[in-house]
Amino acid sequence: MSLHLSLKRKHLLHCNLIYSWSNMVLDKLGNSLQETLKKLVGAGRIDKHLVDEVVKDIQRALLQSDVNVKLVMQLSKEIKRRSLEEKVLAGMSPKEHVVRIIYDELVKILGESSKIQLKSQTIMMVGLQGSGKTTTVAKLARYFQRKGLKPAVICADTDRPGAYEQLKTHCDKMGVLCYGEPGSKDPVKIVQHGLAEIEKYDVKIIDTAGRHALESDLIKQMEEINAIAKPDHRLLILDAAIGQQASEQARVFHESINVTGVIITKLDGTAKGGGALSAVSETKTSIAFIGAGETIEDIERFDAQRFISRLLGMGDIKSLIERAEEALVEEEFDVEAMMRGKFTLKDMYNQMNAMNKLGPLKQIMQMLPLGGMGVKISDDMYEETGGKMKVYKVIMDSMNENEMTEPKVIGSSRIMRIARGSGKHPDDVRELLKYYKTMQRAMKGLRGGKMNMAKMMRKFGG
Ligand code: GDP
Ligand code: MG
Repeated sequence: MSLHLSLKRKHLLHCNLIYSWSNMVLDKLGNSLQETLKKLVGAGRIDKHLVDEVVKDIQRALLQSDVNVKLVMQLSKEIKRRSLEEKVLAGMSPKEHVVRIIYDELVKILGESSKIQLKSQTIMMVGLQGSGKTTTVAKLARYFQRKGLKPAVICADTDRPGAYEQLKTHCDKMGVLCYGEPGSKDPVKIVQHGLAEIEKYDVKIIDTAGRHALESDLIKQMEEINAIAKPDHRLLILDAAIGQQASEQARVFHESINVTGVIITKLDGTAKGGGALSAVSETKTSIAFIGAGETIEDIERFDAQRFISRLLGMGDIKSLIERAEEALVEEEFDVEAMMRGKFTLKDMYNQMNAMNKLGPLKQIMQMLPLGGMGVKISDDMYEETGGKMKVYKVIMDSMNENEMTEPKVIGSSRIMRIARGSGKHPDDVRELLKYYKTMQRAMKGLRGGKMNMAKMMRKFGG
């Protein structure tokens, strides 16, 4: 079935959206409501003893992964406090409750996503020798190239013999320009010349020298290159196996050149990369990318969930977090009322809130099965729909409790009052009420369990 939705059909879109969404929730409820309720009863209790126990496990995991001791202690304190103060989400066992909070706290430190955008910019790489800078310069160039930008790189490592050749070999493979002056001993000049040479390229990446240990002349060199190049990003490259020195290293680099992000390499090895967590905490930045392999393709945007699972040695954190998110959304629904056969404006309001929590409309739509049915939705359409939801919410905020729970009482004089109160046109209020009725019918159909998506569409003008 192929169906093209035009802007005029936005009504139908709202409907499908909430229909599908509700369907998902109700389906799930159908299967697991009993179990969820059962768990809920048992999960109300969470005591200090249990929290201490779980936190101890986590501390062990974090320390084994080389997370800085001070950081682990700070984390533990906050985790204990929140675990005892916050209420357990529906369907979560006490242990899962604590693990979810731990995850939350770790994400707070890690930052959820990279701030490196796909645009023209200059990036300078810093880090100790062998951390993977040169390899990562090539990987990053490849990354931007795949995204359609034109990268070029500069080799400003004048210490390591063959540094230029090493980088150029990688670059030649992907047809990326590599500027260097083999034989020169002046990295600052190389950067100056190089930047002039590659001026017209989109993304300029500068590889620098490293040392076995942090030495003042290395720091001085970084500062000079930084002053000349004025890079948009200064990325600290850390080997996943770096261990407890990560904090100290990050601190020194950060104090001298203000690190804007961390890349962690060699995650294909056995190290869990806990040092990176300490470095990120020290520099108040986030992990931009991770490297997991020796080829130039082995680079990925950082994924906090995956990283934390690895850090804690837990394979199932993703599903746990997903369930927690679902539980949060479900709390917004008056499920019992919906099951009893009543669907009020209040229920609809809660649904909209729940959908907002799930993220931008576009993302939700991608989760729904509409795509597979050949429904095409333009970006305009998403905006239009999102905008309507906001208007509806503002209107509903001007209704009183009685109107929200018994929409039948809303006659023309109330429509005028609600319109005035919300600063909207009476037609908007009427549109909302019409939309509500459509939704109510859809809900009835849902409960009957007979109506499928195709029928819905036909019925509402699809
Ligand atoms: P630099 O001294 O900081 O420039 O480090 P290099 O880029 O020369 O890398 C040092 C070594 O680590 C090289 O042998 C690389 O092939 C290797 N390497 C770099 N990144 C990774 C990675 O993500 N995984 C693996 N397995 N090896 C890596
Ligand atoms: Mg190098």
